[in-house]
Amino acid sequence: MDILSNLLWMIAIWWMLSRMLRTVRLIQHQRLLQEKKENQMHFEQSDMQSNYKQQSEVPLEMVEDPVCGKFVEKHRGYQLSRGTETFYFCSWDCREKFIKEHLKQPE
Ligand SMILES: [Zn+2]
Repeated sequence: MDILSNLLWMIAIWWMLSRMLRTVRLIQHQRLLQEKKENQMHFEQSDMQSNYKQQSEVPLEMVEDPVCGKFVEKHRGYQLSRGTETFYFCSWDCREKFIKEHLKQPE
């Protein structure tokens, strides 16, 4: 009986260890997969950018964001027209800020 229960204990411990190892391996595998995905995304993004540059040989027109002073590419900026002027912003937040500061004040 003693030998049998010892054997059972060993099997139980071995089983637990192998399960632990398996989960560790799974986590490592998932991490690897994630890293691969991230790398792929980087590649895809840079591919898209280079394709875009190849397609449009016109140099990108940069415009200044009047709120934060950043330069943004004209086609990517958030536009706002005010009479004959058009403003470009780096983000929707800057656009909203500009509207609050300049357009909603009574003149
Ligand atoms: Zn801005």
